[in-house]
Amino acid sequence: MDSVGSRGVGYFPQLEKVPPHNHDGVGSLHMYIPWWKFDRKNDFLRGYHIEFGGGQRMPRVGQFKTVCTEFEGYGSRLKERCRQTYGAFISLGGRGEMIPNSHSYCEIDPDEVDEWGIPVLRFHFKWGDNEIKIARDMQETFKAIIEAAGGTYVTRTETAGEFPYGITVGGQIIHEVGTARMGTNPQTSALNGFCQTHDVKNLFVTDGACFVSNPDKNPTLTILALSWRASEYIAEEARKGNL
Ligand SMILES: Cc1cc2nc3c(=O)[nH]c(=O)nc-3n(C[C@H](O)[C@H](O)[C@H](O)COP(=O)(O)OP(=O)(O)OC[C@H]3O[C@@H](n4cnc5c(N)ncnc54)[C@H](O)[C@@H]3O)c2cc1C
Repeated sequence: MDSVGSRGVGYFPQLEKVPPHNHDGVGSLHMYIPWWKFDRKNDFLRGYHIEFGGGQRMPRVGQFKTVCTEFEGYGSRLKERCRQTYGAFISLGGRGEMIPNSHSYCEIDPDEVDEWGIPVLRFHFKWGDNEIKIARDMQETFKAIIEAAGGTYVTRTETAGEFPYGITVGGQIIHEVGTARMGTNPQTSALNGFCQTHDVKNLFVTDGACFVSNPDKNPTLTILALSWRASEYIAEEARKGNL
């Protein structure tokens, strides 16, 4: 599983007048909208959070490519336009929960091996209907936020096809988790609550593989918390001579 991602960008003419200033280091990481619609009925399950991008950071490669597609002109007029629009865009990035589905799994590749001759894993991935609905809600919300703040929503997304509502390609948000899920039933899970395999007592899987869904929060702190719990359990069980 991966986080459900979709992105929206707004243009704010009022930001054109902000004097140039170095915003490096003061970025989107400092702002975050946690899931807020948990108190009402939505047309999808679970939820998502929103991260922000924008400001006048050091221009990167490709920074002005949208200006070139939206503005007709070149030379000094194009440069002037780049200066005018620099720092006037704000982006909203959604990160939503993915529910596991039977089309998303990994298996041992029957043909491909690594450099030591060990078969590699082959991954299959598909978004479910719920993830598509989350992406649609993200787009509607992003547009509403941008317009309420006086901006123009410039993102255009398809409503059908393989990636409707700007939903990301699986793996693009780089929050891949799952495949050795945690649970109490050995028939339906690989690990117990301490990341210990049901079948082999001295085998622990302390990474994102134990996740049973991909909650909207970014995964690393939960991975660390679960690993910490597993470590304490390992130390205690080893002390008792159970491993
Ligand atoms: C660019 C980037 C930015 C990210 N930003 C965030 C963020 O802001 N917040 C957040 O929560 N998450 C973020 N993530 C996701 C987060 O980094 C991962 O979810 C997390 O690192 C996964 O931890 P893990 O222990 O499951 O796997 P990994 O950290 O990938 O660890 C796997 C380890 O196994 C080793 N390994 C692989 N195969 C073998 C083998 N055959 N034998 C021995 N060792 C092997 C690898 O070398 C590696 O050290 C980001 C990821 C990326 C790539």
